[in-house]
Amino acid sequence: MSSQPHTALPWVVRRTRLPLLSLRCVDCPSESATTGEGRFRVNANGKLLDVWLLVRCVSCDRTSKLTVRERAPVRSFDPAELHGYRVNDPELVASTLLDPLLARRNRFTLDWTGAWRLDTPSVSLDDAWPVRVEVVFEDPVPVRPERLIARGLGLSRNEVLRRIKCDIPLRRPTSAAFTFTVTATATATATAGD
Ligand SMILES: [Zn+2]
Repeated sequence: MSSQPHTALPWVVRRTRLPLLSLRCVDCPSESATTGEGRFRVNANGKLLDVWLLVRCVSCDRTSKLTVRERAPVRSFDPAELHGYRVNDPELVASTLLDPLLARRNRFTLDWTGAWRLDTPSVSLDDAWPVRVEVVFEDPVPVRPERLIARGLGLSRNEVLRRIKCDIPLRRPTSAAFTFTVTATATATATAGD
């Protein structure tokens, strides 16, 4: 039996929109906020700048300011970055929101529910076992490998545990690239019945 997988399938995890923020509202019981279209506020105080990312409660619309830069000297800004803050550049909104430092500083977590997808090539898995899959992340979406693999291959979680060989723990969420190998289903020589 050949032990060297000859197929490497690329799987890509990418966001479909910006995630929500799990952030307690000060005005209502909601714990969910959104960046909406994405707006920064830049406030100049002499040669110092404050930059905030504005988010609003999904329930009552109350706006909160998340600190991005605080009393930072104007000259410490890349001019392109400063321009991006002023024109609410969508790429800069995304990279700012997804920066773990912003979440730590402003005490929120990202809620990725329904905000990402898994792209898999449509090929038949039937003829080429074992199959090696390489999972890459275009966005830092935390996924449980076990669930991702089950979804991508249409297997039950039990089957995943039986048929997947992987160097990282299958149950711990990750957003770093990893590879795994799918072994063929039980062959004719295996004991029948269950
Ligand atoms: Zn609210």
